[in-house]
Amino acid sequence: MCFFQHLRRPSTSLRVLSLSVFGLLFCLLSGEAVVAQVAAEIASADGLDVVLHGVITPEKLGKHEMLSFAVPAGIERMNVELISPGFQKGMYLTAGLFDPQRYRGEGRSVFTLSTVDATGPYLPGPIVPGTWQIAIGYNYVAPQAKGEFTVKIHLSRQLDPEKYRVLNAKAGWYKGDLHSHTGLTDAMCKSQSGANVPCPPSKLLDAAASQKLDFLAVTDHNTPATFNELMQSQLYYDRMLLIAGEEITTVKGHANVWGTEGFLDYRVADTGFTANDLFDQAHRLHALVSINHSYWPYDGRCPGCGWGWTNTDFSKVDAIEIINGYHERGSWFTPPPGNGVPFWEQQLAKGLRPTGVGGGDEHRAGEQLALHDGVGLPTTVVYARELSQPAILEGIKAGHAFVQVTGPEGTPLYLTSGDAMMGDQIIAEAGKRVGFKLATQAVAGAKLRLLVDGVAVDRLPEPKADATGLNCEYEWPSDGKRHWVRAELVDTKGELITLTNPIYVNWGK
Ligand SMILES: [Zn+2]
Ligand SMILES: [Zn+2]
Repeated sequence: MCFFQHLRRPSTSLRVLSLSVFGLLFCLLSGEAVVAQVAAEIASADGLDVVLHGVITPEKLGKHEMLSFAVPAGIERMNVELISPGFQKGMYLTAGLFDPQRYRGEGRSVFTLSTVDATGPYLPGPIVPGTWQIAIGYNYVAPQAKGEFTVKIHLSRQLDPEKYRVLNAKAGWYKGDLHSHTGLTDAMCKSQSGANVPCPPSKLLDAAASQKLDFLAVTDHNTPATFNELMQSQLYYDRMLLIAGEEITTVKGHANVWGTEGFLDYRVADTGFTANDLFDQAHRLHALVSINHSYWPYDGRCPGCGWGWTNTDFSKVDAIEIINGYHERGSWFTPPPGNGVPFWEQQLAKGLRPTGVGGGDEHRAGEQLALHDGVGLPTTVVYARELSQPAILEGIKAGHAFVQVTGPEGTPLYLTSGDAMMGDQIIAEAGKRVGFKLATQAVAGAKLRLLVDGVAVDRLPEPKADATGLNCEYEWPSDGKRHWVRAELVDTKGELITLTNPIYVNWGK
């Protein structure tokens, strides 16, 4: 007997009706008993939910039952969950997956797959429209066992689901590197026999983990090829958040995009698809954009490294890399740390608020080379409501961040004004005295600076030591106008150790 029935049906869904007809045809054509049924197909906010049911009996032991379901056009990601009584109750089932053209894998009861990534045993690739099949394998059914299974399939039109885990639910300051490369693009390291070869991504991740980073954005050039690797690795690196990123490498500048696996077009030009269009594309995917190493020369030594898009709308830029770690001491690549500050402050002076960040730009997967900095140098420290990809990106967007030039074990620097922290705005009428507090740790010979609109204030009081470290409080007389106020810790040579994002004064006016 062929049994096919919708238990629940949205009243006006043509797709549901078409699936119903399809299921019936499948039953008739196959000429076999179809014990599984589509229980429901319900349109959800971002796609479609399909639920399949089946009965488990001892006669099915060793068989594979093919359950079909229809995938419409425009699906970017598929999440599948097989719920069955389990081995403990004498019923162990497996879920194989076949798309209309090929086998996609088998071996998990909960899995996801998309154009660019997939859970371990499954193959990433296009979610092609048509008839897909789940192969229910009755690997073990005890002689007296009887039960039911359910397969829940979520077909999403969005590539970026909330698939990244919360690694730490606590709000706090988290340390990370926002710019790194693997051998999937141009990171090189020594092979077992000493040859110069593309570096396996695991070497970078291990190097970052050894620095005890809380998060790492892997930003290979113009490729989504890294995302599957990150998805597999996130399970192992359960204390270090892996942020999906790309360094969009155009002919006139590099921009990091964090937080999407979607397509980002690197074919930027002066007319047609411009840098501003790229930024819009990233924002439509809920990602952030940062202009990288803007201060590098725009010439033949590093084609496209400086930012040369003169028609850039900087109001679309979320962050600017003010410190880049990729510099070999003594070469033309050697900007003193902080060389990106003038470029950044040009935007602040316009009334914009791009967050200042650091990026190690690691290309050696942490191999210790005498002239080369490593992953986590510099470290960007972000205040986030939890350790998750959305929360870290929110913290960056809000400007709740400071940069430790000397890495994850470097010196923190906190700037506050009352309840406001760096990145926040305060209102101060003319004549009002505004208190700023700088809190840091003692570093021999180091000096604190408080800068208003990029200019250090005179006679900053000597910091006071207490159980928490060094604290310095300063009262600044407001003139009622718009200003940005930020803090730095510098060494005896005046080189940056740490710098904060600004507190914005009267910015809304
Ligand atoms: Zn670059
Ligand atoms: Zn880079």
